Amino acid sequence: MADFQAARRAEGRTAWRTPAIFSWDSWLRDEWQKRNAAGSLLLNPLQEQSLWLRVIQRSRRDLLHPARLAEAAMRAYRLLGAYAPEAFRASARLGWAGDAAVFGNWVEDFESRCRREGLASASQLVWGLTEALRGETGGPERAPLLLVGFDRVLETQQALLTAWGAWERIGTADSAQIAQFQASPDGTAEVVACASWLREQLADDPEAELMVVATGLEARRGELERAFGDLGLDFEFSMGVSLTGQGVARSAVLVLRWLQAPIGEAELDWLIGSGHLAASAEEEIALATAMRQIRRDGQERMEWEMTEFAGHAKDSEKETSGWERRLLSAQSLLASEQARQSPLDWVNVAERLLQSLGWPGFRPLSSLGFQARDRWQRVLEDCGSLGFDGRRMEWPEFVATLADAVAGTIFAAESRDAAVQITGPAESAGQLADGIWFLGSDEENWPGRGQPDPLLPIGLQREAGMPHASPQADLALATEVTERLLASAETVVFSYARQAGGVEARPSRLVLQQVGAEVEIAGSNLAERLDRTEIFEDWSQLPFPLSEISGGAATLTRQSLCPIQAFATVRLAAEDFDPAEAGLNARQRGLLLHAVLHSVWAGKGEGGVRSLAELQAIPDLRNFAGRIVSRVMAENFDPAFRRRRNSLPRRFPQRYLELEAERLTGLIAEWLEFERQRQPFTVAETEVRREVTIAGLTLRLRLDRIDELQDGGKLVVDYKTGVVGPRAWEGDRPDDVQLPLYATLAIQEKLEGLVFAKVRPGESHFSGRVRDANGTLQPDLGARSTLVQNPLNDEQLQLWREQIERLGQDFLAGRAEVDPKDSQKTCQTCHLHAVCRIRERVVTIDDENGDEEDGGGVDD
Ligand code: SF4
Repeated sequence: MADFQAARRAEGRTAWRTPAIFSWDSWLRDEWQKRNAAGSLLLNPLQEQSLWLRVIQRSRRDLLHPARLAEAAMRAYRLLGAYAPEAFRASARLGWAGDAAVFGNWVEDFESRCRREGLASASQLVWGLTEALRGETGGPERAPLLLVGFDRVLETQQALLTAWGAWERIGTADSAQIAQFQASPDGTAEVVACASWLREQLADDPEAELMVVATGLEARRGELERAFGDLGLDFEFSMGVSLTGQGVARSAVLVLRWLQAPIGEAELDWLIGSGHLAASAEEEIALATAMRQIRRDGQERMEWEMTEFAGHAKDSEKETSGWERRLLSAQSLLASEQARQSPLDWVNVAERLLQSLGWPGFRPLSSLGFQARDRWQRVLEDCGSLGFDGRRMEWPEFVATLADAVAGTIFAAESRDAAVQITGPAESAGQLADGIWFLGSDEENWPGRGQPDPLLPIGLQREAGMPHASPQADLALATEVTERLLASAETVVFSYARQAGGVEARPSRLVLQQVGAEVEIAGSNLAERLDRTEIFEDWSQLPFPLSEISGGAATLTRQSLCPIQAFATVRLAAEDFDPAEAGLNARQRGLLLHAVLHSVWAGKGEGGVRSLAELQAIPDLRNFAGRIVSRVMAENFDPAFRRRRNSLPRRFPQRYLELEAERLTGLIAEWLEFERQRQPFTVAETEVRREVTIAGLTLRLRLDRIDELQDGGKLVVDYKTGVVGPRAWEGDRPDDVQLPLYATLAIQEKLEGLVFAKVRPGESHFSGRVRDANGTLQPDLGARSTLVQNPLNDEQLQLWREQIERLGQDFLAGRAEVDPKDSQKTCQTCHLHAVCRIRERVVTIDDENGDEEDGGGVDD
């Protein structure tokens, strides 16, 4: 159609008759409707699925996923219509056994309902129209039909076309003048080779029309988008994606659901970020700020009711805002509706609700957004058609049906006639191009593999030549497609990757037969293609303009781990939040443990102790620990104690809190029992705050505890619940500089040592560097203890001081390279991938495995 329009424009015409060009389905529907004397209602896909669902639920009420079964039944029925319509006759289904027999019963019920209620399935149209045409005699001669872009014409279609009269299938032109089969080392190299070939073709002929055909296109879509986008190619996908992937449709479904049911925190984040909820830029910022404040207050939760979120957000904003009023009034509008209504009535309600919510937001929609909104509107209206059987439903059912319909709708934007069309093998039918590149021609993917239909007898499927009924059927279809592609362009290149997902792949035998042996994309050739990328080394630095930061020692730790980390968090205020969990997360548990230990060492006046002697005088450690834990838990979780905002969520079931208190009591009692074995000490300070200046940069530090030992020396103590040790302080780029920083700069005299206090069940111990571990810390340490073997000395302190000074200078100078200390380990525990875009450069990072997080001892 696009070619026809272009040709008329090229002739200089401004108007012309719409040509009689139809897709097969629309022509079939039109011709059938013309002969629909009984006035049957042709079911749309949603209506048909709904009818199958009724049939299936009537047959058995205890099925686990009736909606999925309805989809499967509809699919099987469509196969019957296309390949074996004789099975529509009940007598042809008599021998069916097992699942096929069950399906046969469903078909019987489905068809009898169709007859009774005057309904027709789209799957019956080929057969129905064929019968109707055969019955027509004596009318005017029918216009001849030309079939274009058909890889094959099924027997059922041939019967219909023969009943119609004159028809002809237009084949493709001669075979390609240049046909190649290329092998590349891996999938990335294959895509790079394809992208650079496209660029070369367009450089030779800017008007060239090119096509990329890819097996498994859905999975490769992102990869192709990035590679082609990087080279600035003008491309578009002719295959659509689920309408759910379009923000405008997804936001509509989410907000309609949210009016009556909670949504997940990730969904809420997405909704706020989409901007479809905000009436202005200010509102958009206010919503994001409200969400950030909720997290800073530790009030995150896995699911949010609309009223709860509005209440929290109001708390943080101190006033009722426009969006909150809109949300709440939409909610009351919905509450005023009758509980059960027809789908058509719910469509009207949904439209009014969205309008009152200000959806789709203040930003003008892009062309794609407009198209997606139109498509959404049609899906919404289709859902209204579900009242064809007079049924009524409640709002949650209507929204769930709508969500399914949106998810099941494939949306493809209107073609821009881009220079490069990207499509799948079957979808490329009927398209011609100047050059075609076929990606993924390995044995595994071409011919494509699939499973036979589970509801139809396998014998019937083989006999009728249904897709995936046998390897021969798949091979025959793939051969037809390959031959058609070879005849669709002057140059056709097939390619495959020798390695796919770490597994060796073999070339497609079909392509070998049709095109010949593969040639290697030479390494140098590939390198040359890659070398065309212009690399721009950006060494510019923006010095830090201030002399103070609030990031504490963590800033210098980040500078050491990866300079861009420090830059992004301190200077760009990039923040990372823990996802909400059903219980306390690791960080929150760490905070709770710190609060309890702070109370333990707060001295007698506060119900705690201050020295070893006082600790040893406690008759029942568990009882002592239990009392302090109860008090701290009450302060943090009892709504009556709203003394201060802190980082612990307050809403937990009582029983959960009791169990958490029990666990914490055991852990603290075990730790105190361990501390009882120490050399004499007094706790000098807890939750210590100091300011230090390094290279002109002032940092505010917080440290868990400082002990004064029997010789007057100072021991710096940091509580840890995770796996960490003094090795974190080693090397040019230490993993953690908090304690070395504190020890070298905040303790002015008599530093005896710095230790991690490992508060872990069954593993209570100290690890770190101490000048005389046996004499001042623990008398029972053996000679093999690392505390004894690696004592603290002045040289080490001087080395740390120099490293810390250098890190401070680097930060102040604005060094912000993307340079992780270890691209595997460092990046796995960092959440700034979106800022630094490391994943686009380092493909070896295994982002599936995250390290266990240390919940405690996090610096300010
Ligand atoms: S993800 Fe890796 S490269 Fe990116 S900022 Fe974090 S540590 Fe640096």
